[in-house]
Amino acid sequence: MSVPPTPRRKPKAQVTTIGDRPLKPSTLMMGHGYDPTLSEGSLKPPIFLTSTFAFPSAAEGKRFFEGITGKRPGGAEGLVYSRFNGPNQEILEDRLAVWDGAEDALVFSSGMSAIATLLLAFCNQGDVIVHSGPLYAATEGFIAKTLSRFGIGYVDFPAGAAQGEIEAALQKGRQLAEDQGSRVAMVYLESPANPTNALVDVEAVNAARNAVLGADVPIAIDNTFLGPLWQQPLRQGADVVVYSLTKYAGGHSDLVAGGLSGAKRWMDPVRMLRNTMGTILDPNTSWMLLRSLETVELRMTRSGENAAKVCAFLRQHPKVEGLGYLGMIDDPAQADIFRRHCSGAGSTFSVFIKGGEAECFRFLDALKIAKLAVSLGGTETLASHPASMTHLSVPDERKAQLGITDNLVRISVGIEDADDLIADFEQALAAV
Ligand SMILES: *Cc1c(COP(=O)(O)O)cnc(C)c1O
Repeated sequence: MSVPPTPRRKPKAQVTTIGDRPLKPSTLMMGHGYDPTLSEGSLKPPIFLTSTFAFPSAAEGKRFFEGITGKRPGGAEGLVYSRFNGPNQEILEDRLAVWDGAEDALVFSSGMSAIATLLLAFCNQGDVIVHSGPLYAATEGFIAKTLSRFGIGYVDFPAGAAQGEIEAALQKGRQLAEDQGSRVAMVYLESPANPTNALVDVEAVNAARNAVLGADVPIAIDNTFLGPLWQQPLRQGADVVVYSLTKYAGGHSDLVAGGLSGAKRWMDPVRMLRNTMGTILDPNTSWMLLRSLETVELRMTRSGENAAKVCAFLRQHPKVEGLGYLGMIDDPAQADIFRRHCSGAGSTFSVFIKGGEAECFRFLDALKIAKLAVSLGGTETLASHPASMTHLSVPDERKAQLGITDNLVRISVGIEDADDLIADFEQALAAV
């Protein structure tokens, strides 16, 4: 017996235009993906705290499971079980996809569970990952220490590499894979790189990928530092955008979550593995992120403006040797990538203090407004010392290669009053 398609518990016809006018993401964050009439008229989506969902009929239960198990591509047509899907997660996924103009999105329990599920979904034994460097330390560790246990190799190239160097890395990766009777499974990027803010030329990576490997090998990019507001890498030829939603998207330093955006073709295999492993985000945190996304443009705009003012102050300070800030790039090749890829300079940057670890520590210990903590993208300003904190385990030689010096302080500027922040940095520098 054939079963008629079931209307989903979310609006099919979503309002994304007024006449010819496509609505902006900042407008869509307030209502997209949610129909109040399906929830007693509740203006905001309720939090659906349930482990499982009642099927309208046995035939529909069967049909939903065909989506879950992959018999029918594209995910389940209805709600099944909270390890697979849920209303809060689906609304959040619809809204996250809007920012990158993506066909589909998936949300995860952390940025790292998004990254781990993505890599596991695409890599088979003997495959090779070609990646830009440096990556977020846990990502680099997952590739080099965990995936290597399953015979998955990697080749890396520096974030600022030109097209020739990127092509050479892809050819080296292809050779390494062919020697093992395998293939390059994924090109994985992170831009800007942390903590140096070196930008990857995604357009050059796309051209090199097409020339050396073909378009069937996906390019994924961690867009945590500039996304979702200031960089949309699908436009430059990336296939999957990766987020730690813990950072700017969450934006209040009160949750941990991750996300992926991209075409269904790339999301479907990841969704299948997420269903199996249970790396989906929980309903409560999904709801908090819905609230966060309503203000993400406001928060990021303000923190970007604050960072520009703070950096203008720091640049001329006699105790500051230099800045790694995207609003003040010296290198012409990096400036060219910035112009092509980015619509804003972000609010996370490096400041090089004259001296070394001792001077940096005195500066950090003297801060009164800025908190001494790792992480970034929150409403409050944070400062840390990568060489002795986030990047402590990186060998000295690689630290030197990556420009992670003892006199580097990383700052993530929040949404406080800019002049208050400048006063704080001024008095902390006076203590050095
Ligand atoms: C924080 C971060 C991650 C990891 O995200 P979690 O949410 O902490 O798991 C990955 N990439 C970048 C660039 C990050 O800043």
